[in-house]
Amino acid sequence: MSERESRRAALVRSRLSKLLASDDGILPGSLIERTLRCGKENCRCKADPPKLHGPYVQWGYSRDHKRITRWLSAEQVERYQPEIARARRFRELVAELEAAEIQRVERAEGWGT
Ligand SMILES: [Zn+2]
Repeated sequence: MSERESRRAALVRSRLSKLLASDDGILPGSLIERTLRCGKENCRCKADPPKLHGPYVQWGYSRDHKRITRWLSAEQVERYQPEIARARRFRELVAELEAAEIQRVERAEGWGT
């Protein structure tokens, strides 16, 4: 591993440590904005062009290969959005660390580039 690469790996490890040391939530999944049609006959959502209701926000995540979604209030969006962003950051950092570790071993063993 070059000096620059090992500095980068050390930085990633330290960022991961900080993320995990915090008591702040790390919530998997993502937020999705949705607009909807309602069931009323003469509603603006049935007009031409339609003016749909919303946007409303759903939190979606996967469990046992199934997609689960939950409607969130504005207050819940505000509360959970930072936790979801933190989890995304966590996954990015883990992916970066894994790439660096693979490269380290590939180089050390003379297998790859
Ligand atoms: Zn409607």
